[in-house]
Amino acid sequence: MDLNILVLPGDGIGAEVTGEAARVLRHVADKWSHRLNVREGLLGGVAIHKTGTPFPDETARLAADADATLMGAVGLPEFDNAPPEKRPEKGLLRIRQALGVYANLRPVRAYASLLDSSPLKNHLVEGTDMIIVRELTGGIYYGTPRGIAGTGAEERAVNTMAYTRSEIERVTRMAFHLAQARRKKVTSVDKSNVLENSQLWRRVVTEMAREYPEISLDHMLVDNCAMQLILNPRRFDVVLTENMFGDILSDEGAVLAGSIGMLPSASIGDRRPSGAWVGLYEPVHGSAPDIAGQNKANPLGAIGSVAAMLSYSFGLQEEASAVEAAIAAVLRSGRVTADLRPSGTPATTEQVGESVCAAIG
Ligand code: NAD
Repeated sequence: MDLNILVLPGDGIGAEVTGEAARVLRHVADKWSHRLNVREGLLGGVAIHKTGTPFPDETARLAADADATLMGAVGLPEFDNAPPEKRPEKGLLRIRQALGVYANLRPVRAYASLLDSSPLKNHLVEGTDMIIVRELTGGIYYGTPRGIAGTGAEERAVNTMAYTRSEIERVTRMAFHLAQARRKKVTSVDKSNVLENSQLWRRVVTEMAREYPEISLDHMLVDNCAMQLILNPRRFDVVLTENMFGDILSDEGAVLAGSIGMLPSASIGDRRPSGAWVGLYEPVHGSAPDIAGQNKANPLGAIGSVAAMLSYSFGLQEEASAVEAAIAAVLRSGRVTADLRPSGTPATTEQVGESVCAAIG
């Protein structure tokens, strides 16, 4: 198979973790005889430095031409006080919108070998296996009007949380579709006791559930969900929620997985004529300026994102399973980075990438 991949390393540890993810991708391509064509582009702070904008037109063109895009992370402290349009994070929002990737899938698993890395009690976390489906191109991060106006005591900031029925329907369909291949349970998370937006969300999800009689659906308020994720994470199979709630809840997932560096994600749009899903793949973590350039970052979230890419964008289930099994084997071996190994000598980012390739065989 031809695998035309765009890699956008971005800022901070982005280049380090995508370097190892690309290493694993090359290894898989060699082993299963796929033709791999990797191109590299600019996104985020590095793109602002080189072109003046966080999402250059050239990057938009490369992403549209690629079968799938692998992203690192964006964000540099020097832009912390820059206006939104000139911030690296704007590049992230714009590429998601340009590719139309409306569903962000974030699997959260508690690996047995990492139970001790979680600050939660082992018996609570053990067996956790869920996927958070977050709506990604609507809601308050994109809604208008937005902005800050006025001065003094009258200075006022506005953001708008807006969803259309069709935006809710398509991400709901994705969640039910995923649940069919899992434990057949969807928990839809909203704030319908306060927000009209959530009332529409709940009504549309409930209506759509009638098309999937084999799936059990329940609804949960987001504040309760934040609590249940910690108290009883095993109760969740597929968690479906809007953009901002999903952003916040999925970071909570990092506590269950042992480290934020472990979490992969896949952002999926519509199907291409070939049947493959349009996909943007990235670890959940940010650019981690505190450890950037030190060969310390955990690359397993980025490598897990490669497994998701092989599965969703290319339908290569055997290759995807091999990468996932290799991640589990590396975790069992204890040859892991410092975030998962508070004592003893940790492995470097590169060593973890090499170990994953070795475990694939
Ligand atoms: P962060 O995820 O970058 O870091 C949070 C903590 O987790 C830090 O202590 C960091 O060292 C650690 N960490 C993160 N990834 C790790 C990894 N792979 N291995 C080991 N440790 C890891 O979040 P932050 O500090 O809130 O944000 C830093 C910058 O990243 C900000 O500019 C923010 O806007 C940006 N950000 C970008 C994305 C993205 O590109 N998708 C996501 C979140 C934050």
